Amino acid sequence: MRLNPCELEIDLFCRGVRVPESVSLDGARGVRRTRAGLGSGLEVAIPTGSWLKPEIWMNAPVAEPFARTSPYVVRGAPGAYEVLDEPGGLSYPIRIPPQPRWYDRLTSRDVPMSRIGVLQGTYLGIYINPICEFWASELNCRFCTTGQNVGATEARDKAVPDVVETCRAARDYSGATFVHLNGGFQGSRGIAMAEPYLRAIKKDVGMLVGVQLAPEKDFSRYDRLIDLGVDHLSFCVELLDPAWFARICPGKQRMLGQRLFFDAMEYCARRMPHGAVSGEIIAGIEPVERTLEAIDIITAHGAFPTVCIFRPTIGSDMEDWPPPSYEDMRIVMRHVYEACRRHWLPIGAAPNIEVSLVVNPDDAALLADLDAGFYGYEAWRRLVRIAARPIFRRRMKPVARPRRALRAA
Ligand code: SF4
Repeated sequence: MRLNPCELEIDLFCRGVRVPESVSLDGARGVRRTRAGLGSGLEVAIPTGSWLKPEIWMNAPVAEPFARTSPYVVRGAPGAYEVLDEPGGLSYPIRIPPQPRWYDRLTSRDVPMSRIGVLQGTYLGIYINPICEFWASELNCRFCTTGQNVGATEARDKAVPDVVETCRAARDYSGATFVHLNGGFQGSRGIAMAEPYLRAIKKDVGMLVGVQLAPEKDFSRYDRLIDLGVDHLSFCVELLDPAWFARICPGKQRMLGQRLFFDAMEYCARRMPHGAVSGEIIAGIEPVERTLEAIDIITAHGAFPTVCIFRPTIGSDMEDWPPPSYEDMRIVMRHVYEACRRHWLPIGAAPNIEVSLVVNPDDAALLADLDAGFYGYEAWRRLVRIAARPIFRRRMKPVARPRRALRAA
């Protein structure tokens, strides 16, 4: 049976895709295993042919063992790729985005910009802080590879000027509008460490900025981030079931506790514009009913759910685990969209933010029943997008002119 573009996205996350050596990926965006390691696959854009959104971005697993037995295989050549479902004999056109020209450029401190930040979909992702402290005590989240990537495939220390210059390049050469800064667990210093980056990006570049850190108990620190102009805050609670949370995220369990994630999420959602806060979870580890419950709790807290499909990333403690089933993940993603609709969350309102590591909530509109509620919500979303344009334009204005010129590698 032919899958629609969101169904294909989900199936590719669950089964991966093979890329034969005979298929040239010349000029394509290379695999970048940075941050937690989820970007370890091939960046792909799937045209939808739908009025809902033109393309769906995703990062299709290619390196993990399960991808080697995938029914999907990439065919074609630069400019004309497709994914073939070999057993079914069905082909789906895809676009493989080009490698950003600025990846090889050097910052003024001679660091290649791709070691500072990478595009994950259309947004720029940068791990800013020292290696998450959970790694030093073997309390790291079991799916994560940050401790292997920071200092190896990406620079260990990201100086503020390097981050600013990389943001500026991503904005100018790739049209990026949003930079996502994350930094793991740093005790009670994580937010303070993020502040100089936020301040400098807002002042010198003017992109939308998201911050994702382990929650801190002094919530007034979030007020400071909001005062500095942060546009998005996300909280990675990962799993709802307490036993699974403790088993997969031992550091978060021991040092923070699950409750703190939801409390911080709720606190920030009350202070920031509707839709500016998200709760991140991983689907495909705990029973699917708990994932659905987590989605309901996150949306009831006024946040939107960011749901990663579990990937047994090479090098992680869970590399031998199986990926989840398509059927379960389709149920989860449909639930994401329905929960956002129930709470009138303005998903997809910000300009040009397509996250390739997850099924974006508005991707999942393609899974919904086409009833009156669907058309009402979609019409409202369209109006919100139009009304929000001048607000985002204003928020993306730097407060000072860029000073440094880029240097070619
Ligand atoms: S908090 Fe967990 S997921 Fe985040 S960087 Fe640390 S170990 Fe990785």
